Amino acid sequence: MPYALVHYHELALKGRNRGFFEKRFVQHLRNTLRHNKGIRVESLPGRIRITYQDDTPWDAIQEGIRHTFGGVNFAQAYALPIDYDSPDLMPLCKAIEDTLPTQSFQTFRVTTKRGDKRFSKTSVEVNREVGAYLCEVTGKPVRLKAPDLNIFVEIVDHTAYFTLNRQPGPGGLPTGMSGKVVCLLSGGIDSPVAAYRMMKRGCKVTFVHFHGRPYLSRASEEKVRDLTKHLTRYQLYSRLFLVPFGDIQRQIVLDSPPPIRIVLYRRMMMRIADQLAAKEQAWGLVTGDSLGQVASQTPENLQVVSEIPRLPILRPLIGMDKIEITNESQQIGTYETSIEPDEDCCTLFVPPHPNTRCRFQDIHKAEERLAIQDMVDTGLKNTELVEFSF
Ligand code: ATP
Ligand code: MG
Repeated sequence: MPYALVHYHELALKGRNRGFFEKRFVQHLRNTLRHNKGIRVESLPGRIRITYQDDTPWDAIQEGIRHTFGGVNFAQAYALPIDYDSPDLMPLCKAIEDTLPTQSFQTFRVTTKRGDKRFSKTSVEVNREVGAYLCEVTGKPVRLKAPDLNIFVEIVDHTAYFTLNRQPGPGGLPTGMSGKVVCLLSGGIDSPVAAYRMMKRGCKVTFVHFHGRPYLSRASEEKVRDLTKHLTRYQLYSRLFLVPFGDIQRQIVLDSPPPIRIVLYRRMMMRIADQLAAKEQAWGLVTGDSLGQVASQTPENLQVVSEIPRLPILRPLIGMDKIEITNESQQIGTYETSIEPDEDCCTLFVPPHPNTRCRFQDIHKAEERLAIQDMVDTGLKNTELVEFSF
């Protein structure tokens, strides 16, 4: 029966969080892998074991692990029973030897971890014995620093596991460990990366998109649906709220000076998102803002926008450069969708010279002329909900 072993960072987990983490992690792996027949996910001391069927492709398991936050590394594993008191390492040596023809390498090392200190040999002893045997039968030398092949041996639960190709997992905290947040998703490059970052820290993310219908086509909305679908792979279920924003923008345009309009739009978005978040029982609002990137993201304008919501605004990309954000969006696979042409609602009615330093008093004065509550109520009333499942 094939296995996979998944490791997480134990040091980062303190006190009660540890049990909570493990439970969530195991549960999420089970849910992610549920389409594979006969799959078992169990918590061993310090690691998670996945047992799958011979006819399940490793790729399917691998993809599931890669999309489950919490794992720092993982590998396909082989297992043999082992006697703690009089351990004979020969069967282990032979089993490793049998799998080596599938590997191409010039140098190797053995790295042993005893998950159970009752095992009567030390890790160093196991490394030496197994290493010497493999060196002899393959004729290949041990190299401790940067070997081509690192063979990990793990002794746990009266079983010796070994793995050959350890790979990095996505890291982070399991979905749901950090509650729920609402992300303002625009269809651009930044906000999907911001959502990903929050998911990685254990948040469930609900999405809100403000669209320009009826003044604009559905393009931005279609992109946002695609992006949400893509990100749903990590949390398995997502909710996307689509809020009509064209009429709200039109009213702002009719009644307020062009340079401060962008900030007024953002404040309206925050009012609506804040209410949706309350209904979702979310604890924060997430944006893709990065300091100084565009006029709405200067220190002054960020403050004027931050004044609005009851919930904190989380800006996971605030200290990142556009190049760094773009690279990350390529890594997570949202870039291609993000760069498709569209007409974002904000391209509608964009003033030519936006004010980069809006003052609170000017903004407050401009808003006195607007029927804010009506605009919020109408926006909320006409909001559509779309659900996604993986
Ligand atoms: P992005 O690449 O995420 O679109 P951007 O560089 O285009 O960001 P802005 O257009 O100023 O920057 O938007 C800043 C943030 O405001 C976005 O990252 C997003 O969180 C939010 N936002 C902007 N427009 C919308 C929209 N139409 N619907 C939902 N959120 C939006
Ligand atoms: Mg944008």
